[in-house]
Amino acid sequence: MITPPHHTTAAPVLSDSFGRVINNLRISVTDRCNFRCRYCMPEEGMVWMEKSELLSFEEITRVTRLFAELGVTRIRLTGGEPLMRKDLHLLVEKLSPLPGIRDIAMTTNGFFLAEQARLLYKAGLRRINVSLDSLDPVKFNLMTRRDYYGKVWEGLHAVEALGIRPIKLNAVLIRGVNDDEIGAFAYLARTKPYIIRFIEFMPIGLGDGWTNEKVMTSKEILETIEHETGKKLVPVERRGDQPADRFTFEDGLGEIGFISSVSEPFCDQCNRVRITSDGKLRTCLFSLGETDLKQLVRGGATDGEIKLAIKDAVWKKEPGHLINQPSFTRPERTMSQIGG
Ligand code: SAM
Ligand code: SF4
Repeated sequence: MITPPHHTTAAPVLSDSFGRVINNLRISVTDRCNFRCRYCMPEEGMVWMEKSELLSFEEITRVTRLFAELGVTRIRLTGGEPLMRKDLHLLVEKLSPLPGIRDIAMTTNGFFLAEQARLLYKAGLRRINVSLDSLDPVKFNLMTRRDYYGKVWEGLHAVEALGIRPIKLNAVLIRGVNDDEIGAFAYLARTKPYIIRFIEFMPIGLGDGWTNEKVMTSKEILETIEHETGKKLVPVERRGDQPADRFTFEDGLGEIGFISSVSEPFCDQCNRVRITSDGKLRTCLFSLGETDLKQLVRGGATDGEIKLAIKDAVWKKEPGHLINQPSFTRPERTMSQIGG
């Protein structure tokens, strides 16, 4: 039996029982959202958490500091829509100076960026991923059930104006819905300094209508790009802790990335864990269990006690998700409730 490293006193690295080093923490700051993306949540009937259930900025900062002391170096703010949380830049201001945190990023639908990008940048946010599933305003409405295409582009232009590079767009393609836009996305990545990351459609939304047939796999998308552009994509060396397979065009400015969570899961190299907006630690997006850090934080636990709970949970991180296997069980919470 292997002994978890935390049962000795020196544990400079947060690792699990499979030897994976966990240095990446995704922090959800809210489950609320002003969009209703078809693959994520239904048009009506979402029930939001009580605001008092959400970790406060002070609580998030404390928990993040403890993760940093255990070895986490990179964090990503997400949700729900993270910018639904009022004054998010104040949280970034608290997180930026934490010793050990080298990188703060955010995933957003982009709606509030036009107003908030500057404040976030000043507070220390340097990397922003904007989710954009269509480059056609009509189809954008169909995907998000909102008429906000112009607003998202205002946000992207604000990010561009701040000099934040690269600008990353996340796109989920669903067969028969927006898979006809591969060429348009490829054109954007060739002509602008944008990184387009195609994320495979996963069974994690509420009312998402997921079936395996609707998943546009990375391989199919890559082949379509090469066919439509008549050019071979050039592989870029994968950074150690990045889940995306990256490619450039010989004659392009930007980049294409593929996150093949369904067709080629990267679980054996997974370096991340998540905390939900109500303070539950999840060691996988598809975990069937959680560790309640909020209860510890609000119950007066010491830093040492919370760190022990984190280390114990991380040590038991599951080997991988089971999408496409008969024993796959959807988690009780959806992507927006967990933090995407
Ligand atoms: N609201 C923010 C946004 O949309 O960027 C952050 C949260 S959202 C849950 C994070 C990411 O998860 C988005 O890029 C979204 O496209 C992706 N996502 C949501 N549901 C998904 C699903 N069923 N399959 C694949 N990706 C999904
Ligand atoms: Fe909102 Fe993001 Fe889900 Fe779309 S993917 S509904 S923007 S949380």
